[in-house]
Amino acid sequence: MILVTGGAGYIGSHLVLELLKRGYKVSVFDNLSTGHIETVNKLKETGKKNFEFIKGDLNNKNEINAAFSKEINGVIHFAASALVYESTVNPAKYYENNFCGTLNLLNSMRENNVSKIVFSSTAATYGEPIKIPIDENHPQNPINPYGKSKLMIEKMMDDYDMAYGIKSVRLRYFNVVGADSKFRTGEWHDMETHIVPNILKSLFVKNQTFKIFGTDYDTKDGTCVRDYVNVEDLAQAHILAFEYLQKGGKTDFFNIGTNEGNTVREIFEYCSMITGKKIPFEIAPRRKGDPARLVADNKKAKEILKWTPKKTLKESIQTAYEWEKQLNLQKN
Ligand code: UDP
Repeated sequence: MILVTGGAGYIGSHLVLELLKRGYKVSVFDNLSTGHIETVNKLKETGKKNFEFIKGDLNNKNEINAAFSKEINGVIHFAASALVYESTVNPAKYYENNFCGTLNLLNSMRENNVSKIVFSSTAATYGEPIKIPIDENHPQNPINPYGKSKLMIEKMMDDYDMAYGIKSVRLRYFNVVGADSKFRTGEWHDMETHIVPNILKSLFVKNQTFKIFGTDYDTKDGTCVRDYVNVEDLAQAHILAFEYLQKGGKTDFFNIGTNEGNTVREIFEYCSMITGKKIPFEIAPRRKGDPARLVADNKKAKEILKWTPKKTLKESIQTAYEWEKQLNLQKN
């Protein structure tokens, strides 16, 4: 059985669906601070006897320790706070939830003799890029507490391998987009900051206008370039990473991105084309802390994990659109 922390959240819930599809038994540990009980219910409906849910918090040592039943033989760890701006005004929350939470998790793994973990890291650990595309040897100089907390975890995981033999794979994600192709889950944040849901919400939410943050970057159309990876492709990367560890793979880290960059304007145009709607937008000042370009070099994940992104950006936006429609129907 695999313990998935943060399995009620956006990326975690897609991974759980994929694990269940492949016949794995899954135990989700989530405090539902940003994840949703509705998502858990969907997962339960899909997984039936192969699924269990534990409502618990990583900052509570007893709760996380109790989640390690005899059956757990590996961990996939998503539970974290993940808003860059919030981390700059409330770093305590990030070091507590991300760093201390993971420390408690690793200690429970030690106590319960569980020695494999796949960890959701981030391209934010690289900071301001000095070259594009970014490979795994790029220096890691994160510029905000969110990225710093994730980098500290990566370092701690190296030490926990050396001293206690806990093997980890750290997946450094670039920008994640899309929803489950059967629409059982999708991106659902009460405070939405991400580009695609924000564009789509401008179609459904009264008086919401999509803001393009900055048009004076040194890029082909003046807006920021990001590498958008599909959430189901990302889920596959976690499965491959877990299987790699099960086969005796060593502690390692991989970029998960597509090697392709798209500008904010391109994403906006795609959304307009795919929805066939005129989406309200305005030009706004740059958002603090946004680098002009972030594009992954994903060669290492392709070579070692045998992972390749399969879904197109069009598919990602189509599924995100269907999911957003469903969410708004529920609300109204
Ligand atoms: N962005 C934007 N308007 C929004 C949200 C995001 O222009 O409402 C831009 C943002 O400045 C960045 C890109 O879209 O260049 C991706 O931002 P997102 O927050 O989705 O992910 P991040 O790159 O911060 O992880």
